Amino acid sequence: MHLTIHSSWVIKLVIPTFISFMACNSNTTKEPIPPNIIFIMSDDHTTQAFGIYGSRLASLNPTPTLDQLAQEGMIFDNCFVTNSICVPSRAAIITGQHSQTNGVIDLEGKLSMDQQYLPQEMKKLGYQTAIVGKWHLRHEPAFDYYQVLPGQGKYFDPEFRVQGEKPWPENTVETQGHSSDVITDITLDWFENKRDPNQPFFLMQHYKAPHDDFEHAPRYHDYLEEVIIPEPESLYDNKTNGSVATRGINDSLTRIIGSSVSRRNLVRNQAMNLYMDSTVYRAYRNAQEVAEDELKPFINTPEEKVNTSIVYQEYLKRYLRCVKGVDDNIKRLLDYLKSKNLLDNTVIIYTGDQGFMLGEHDYIDKRWMYEESMRMPFFVRYPESIKSGTRTSAIINNTDFAPTMIALAGGAVPEYMQGRSFKEILESGIEPEHWPQETYYRYWMHMAHRHANPAHFGIRTKDYKLIFFYGRYWVDTDDPQAKWNRESWGNDYARHTPVAWEFYDLKQDPKEMTNQYHNPDYAETIENLKERLWETREDLNETDERYPHIQQVIDQYKDS
Ligand code: CA
Repeated sequence: MHLTIHSSWVIKLVIPTFISFMACNSNTTKEPIPPNIIFIMSDDHTTQAFGIYGSRLASLNPTPTLDQLAQEGMIFDNCFVTNSICVPSRAAIITGQHSQTNGVIDLEGKLSMDQQYLPQEMKKLGYQTAIVGKWHLRHEPAFDYYQVLPGQGKYFDPEFRVQGEKPWPENTVETQGHSSDVITDITLDWFENKRDPNQPFFLMQHYKAPHDDFEHAPRYHDYLEEVIIPEPESLYDNKTNGSVATRGINDSLTRIIGSSVSRRNLVRNQAMNLYMDSTVYRAYRNAQEVAEDELKPFINTPEEKVNTSIVYQEYLKRYLRCVKGVDDNIKRLLDYLKSKNLLDNTVIIYTGDQGFMLGEHDYIDKRWMYEESMRMPFFVRYPESIKSGTRTSAIINNTDFAPTMIALAGGAVPEYMQGRSFKEILESGIEPEHWPQETYYRYWMHMAHRHANPAHFGIRTKDYKLIFFYGRYWVDTDDPQAKWNRESWGNDYARHTPVAWEFYDLKQDPKEMTNQYHNPDYAETIENLKERLWETREDLNETDERYPHIQQVIDQYKDS
């Protein structure tokens, strides 16, 4: 009895003193502990293929794990890519810079180790750095540890590039299984066997899925098999979306511009992609043959609609099966982190490297400045400083990711980065007063890869989008480089395409069904947006000073 009383007194006296000592100590002498950071990125995982973004596909519940992760943190509704294609997006993320500043404007781009600013800065801040999965920036990754796919990598039994005795990229390892499973396995192995528990970590885990050709693990074969996937209305009728730049005069270019779900596009459509109908494919490889057919309009007959619907169902099912594989693997990762007490002291970021067209406007693939392609999923969980269940409409883009992660790690954002840290938005939930109200976009690869998207640039605000299709190759067509790039990209159809502006009122028309550029009611708004577009291009070093043949087009059509 005596002892019991004695011990409880000891506890009452000693514990509060100890706690106040600790609190005092941490407030005055100890720096805040830098959080671990995991940046998870999938390839071509678009906002329509989530529950949280409320698209027509949300009711299919394609991402239960990711939705929950997002709801425990902050969801960004206005996150956009600056150039909707793999390599330039990844370069923007690693450098915090737009394409003309980091030099990566197309799929041929690469980043030297010195230019890989994000891992370099994180190392300087005392982080152990690692990257697993898709890399695609060609030079050796400047991370403490890497195991990365060569180029796009393979879906099944992928080979990886690793550190070793031989110089990059000669050290490789073989693996077995589906890439999403294997990439997660490698990450878990890194945690178990290679992580230094005395250092905070910065891990980039990049899935190959759900990039085309949408090969899922066999266990998903029956997923959604019996379900009819909701279709976008614009799959069959694109109404007044687009302009002469995307459709040609009197729709004369609809057979060659913009790869399609339907058989509208003669050069590349999803039926060819899915079924590899090599006879059809070969028949249209020849530009001359395409030229002969392209003037015949595509009639969306009842028979064609049936074809389109069959292709669409198969396209979406394959895509969503890949998405499901990613979602299940994220669950494995989160369960592991939880079991090791790493879940709540780690900033977890999830995104896709750009959006993707899932049949909206009858388009497949990305590249377009249209919403489904330009918009990125983006959310962050970190219960220490981000309230769960928060959402923001602040506009951010992929050049802002590196500055934000550096700021979260306790560093100062380097001057050479063009993006801005949105750490304050994450922590306060409030968009700061002088936060940018627009984001700039530029797609360079004119008519490449038989997806055949004309080159364009533009500006997006919360309410509006203005796009200028200048319809020219980035190299002058007299330049030998132009020919090399055409061959390298498999683009036999490079040609000048018509120039036009497009304008969408996103509040009235969120699906971008009507180009309102010539509606006089919007004349003042459009004038104002053009001013902001030219200013933004100057501010971001994104003018066409180095491309006089494009500048000439801009000068000629500026006020048209
Ligand atoms: Ca991509």
